[in-house]
Amino acid sequence: MIATRARRRLEDLLGDRIRFDVPMSRHTSLCVGGPADALATPAGRDELAELLAACASLGIPHRVLGGGFNTLVRDEGLDGVVIRLQHFGRLEARPGAMLRAEAGVSHNRVAKFCVANGFAGLEFGAGIPGTVGGWLAMNAGIPAREVADTVREVEVMSPTGAHLRRIPRASLRFRYRSLTGLAPGSVFLSGLFAVRLDEPESVRKEIERHLLRRAETQPLHAPSCGSVFKNPPGAFAGRLIEEAGLKGSRIGGAEISKIHANFIVNRGGATASDVLGLIERAREAVSRRTGIQLETEVAIVGRTR
Ligand SMILES: Cc1cc2nc3c(=O)[nH]c(=O)nc-3n(C[C@H](O)[C@H](O)[C@H](O)COP(=O)(O)OP(=O)(O)OC[C@H]3O[C@@H](n4cnc5c(N)ncnc54)[C@H](O)[C@@H]3O)c2cc1C
Repeated sequence: MIATRARRRLEDLLGDRIRFDVPMSRHTSLCVGGPADALATPAGRDELAELLAACASLGIPHRVLGGGFNTLVRDEGLDGVVIRLQHFGRLEARPGAMLRAEAGVSHNRVAKFCVANGFAGLEFGAGIPGTVGGWLAMNAGIPAREVADTVREVEVMSPTGAHLRRIPRASLRFRYRSLTGLAPGSVFLSGLFAVRLDEPESVRKEIERHLLRRAETQPLHAPSCGSVFKNPPGAFAGRLIEEAGLKGSRIGGAEISKIHANFIVNRGGATASDVLGLIERAREAVSRRTGIQLETEVAIVGRTR
């Protein structure tokens, strides 16, 4: 809960770009989750910096949400301000076969831009739904290629909005599906990506190849958050869950996909508790069978009480 005075201060700052008690089920791809205390969409960098400073001085936590394609919000909702960077949408070619994209740019826009400009190297991202901010935070990728392979620099705002830094690739600690080493609450503002010049038609074909492969192997017809678990070293989480006999297993409206066992889909009316129940069921079954402790890839956030 945000106290009335703090609420007024945030309203004075952002006007109608801040709303209160916003259901996160409408902002995450699994379509589950309770309300966030507030959802803010700052108009630009100055307003973002002011918002972060206000949150810090008022003692209100904040969290950035990109497209919500890898985020599971608990039914109890979220404390503090959720920040969306949908007004951070600049996308441009830079000299030396580079592309700079602000954090709010969607995977679709990057793909279209790459086709239009004949930029190769980012095709793998075409089927990874979300924003550039989410790609960077998650080091999104496929087994053959990930964001870390193509990023040259990331622009980051400090958690209190006081500093803006450009961090070169060599100083960024990308790990499997994460970017570590930055202060918690840091906000990625943009990424600079290296590309190769190619024929637009071959870039388009490569993107289609990736999209087709996903359509054949993933349950894209129902709400999900993509892979729920990280692949443990030398194994595939989906295969381990399938071998534990859990394909099609259900709790309430949530189901372990019959198409790809590392996906949990919302068959309609699922709650976050249903999804969390299946996560535990899969973790326990795999641990019992193989001794492997599966680690979640999806960011699980929200109140636990
Ligand atoms: C059908 C489907 C298929 C998928 N396939 C893949 C795949 O092949 N490979 C893969 O890696 N992922 C995959 N995913 C997961 C998801 O697409 C990626 O993790 C993507 O990067 C999420 O981006 P997002 O903007 O939606 O992030 P969100 O879910 O909004 O956020 C994810 C995390 O990033 C943080 N974050 C987001 N933006 C910022 C920012 N600007 N600054 C600081 N932190 C930020 C959030 O706080 C959160 O912790 C898939 C998801 C779906 C639904």
